[in-house]
Amino acid sequence: MERIKDVLAREPGVEAGAVRVGGWVRTRRDSKAGFSFVEINDGSCLASLQVVAGRDLPNYERDVLCLSMGSSVAVDGVLVASPGAGQKVELRATAMEVIGRADPETYPLQKKEISYERLREIAHLRPRTNTFGAVLRIRGELAYAVHSFFRERGFICLHSPIITTSDCEGAGAMFRVTTIDPGAPPRRPDGAVDTARDFFGASAYLTVSGQLEAEACACGVGRVYTFGPTFRAENSNTWRHLAEFWMVEPEMAFADLDADAQLAESFIRALACHVLANCGAELEFFRKRVDDGVVKRLESAATKPFDRMTYTEAVERLKASDRKFEYAPEWGGDLQSEHERVLTEICGGAVVVTDFPASIKPFYMRRSEDGRTVAAMDVLAPGIGEIIGGSQREERLDALEQNMRERGMDPANYGWFLDLRRYGTVPHAGFGLGFERMVQFCTGMRNIRDVIPFPRTPGNAEF
Ligand code: ATP
Ligand code: MN
Repeated sequence: MERIKDVLAREPGVEAGAVRVGGWVRTRRDSKAGFSFVEINDGSCLASLQVVAGRDLPNYERDVLCLSMGSSVAVDGVLVASPGAGQKVELRATAMEVIGRADPETYPLQKKEISYERLREIAHLRPRTNTFGAVLRIRGELAYAVHSFFRERGFICLHSPIITTSDCEGAGAMFRVTTIDPGAPPRRPDGAVDTARDFFGASAYLTVSGQLEAEACACGVGRVYTFGPTFRAENSNTWRHLAEFWMVEPEMAFADLDADAQLAESFIRALACHVLANCGAELEFFRKRVDDGVVKRLESAATKPFDRMTYTEAVERLKASDRKFEYAPEWGGDLQSEHERVLTEICGGAVVVTDFPASIKPFYMRRSEDGRTVAAMDVLAPGIGEIIGGSQREERLDALEQNMRERGMDPANYGWFLDLRRYGTVPHAGFGLGFERMVQFCTGMRNIRDVIPFPRTPGNAEF
């Protein structure tokens, strides 16, 4: 079986020889002259292959004339130059086998447009659509580009644990992992559930980040990155939040905030360049059908240096702008997504915001000389907002313990993390890129549920 992508790239004629392809029928048109055009798509590329099947096939009337959208077929044939407009080659079928029929009365995908909302309800069939096929191919290319970017720079791929007993952010809502029978939990003498008798001997959760473990490994092998699923139990039903999403988290020893920001910018630039160079047909599709600005934004990310500004400057710029905000920008407050959007508009592209107030950032970020900000950075992308969050980590033991106590955390519970500062500490820095937000940036898809194969959101984990 050959992929249609490869077949379409070949020159027609004798040297093309016999071809065998498999795929799903998109359309069938019958000519009065006793043959049919059957468009077949196998998802290897956006384009479909036009198959010409004639009455000379023994099963023409029985099978070919009954083909409808979604049926699967295997076709043998000869590749010839196509007289029709729109394709260079077509396949003259010498044999056509119908493998699985799709009843047109009930098959949910039909020629007419289907809303993204409806497609989410049939997430198992949406990989057969043009839009979702293109999303999956770009997503796959991006994953490849992530690994090659880091490998080329000497970063070691790290598999950090999914199950954890520490809460990385000190606050983030987490999913509990337990084997305790909720109907008959073991209890302590005081009646409380005895989590010490749970599977891991302590309360365990799905991780919100691989960072703490990445820090431990970076402080031994220098440069690492994780690329894995992370989980947030927040009840946020927005266009850019999932309960389960994939995060890329590099961590570098002997690095400060500036090195971190440089890495983040080169990383996004490399991903943008890879998609521009390898996904031309998909990008053209998204530009035409989904968001006409997507290619321009990618080209800008690929070529234009990112703007930099401190959080303090960002708040001033927002205050000075004549925009109406739902939440007024105020020093000390989180940057809302409306603020992030306006900042990328002011800068006309991606922008790195640095030096956030300590009070709105987690305990592990490095306190700056001014005492009130930390060496943090967020990369904001046009159309997306925050796509990367990172920081230089607090490498000084006493300062880190102080940060914990200020947040009501007990340093005694973070012994191994503090050991990294206790023994041979070094300045180090890293960040997290939300992989789905990057896929959104590269496709223009508005809803994050439409850039992951099977989204998990509050109330929704079907498939
Ligand atoms: P936000 O403020 O947008 O909710 P965050 O600051 O809580 O994000 P971080 O903890 O900094 O997120 O996570 C690092 C990156 O992971 C973010 O910059 C973003 O790209 C991505 N991310 C965070 N939360 C989600 C989510 N629920 N779904 C998808 N991606 C996410
Ligand atoms: Mn963040």
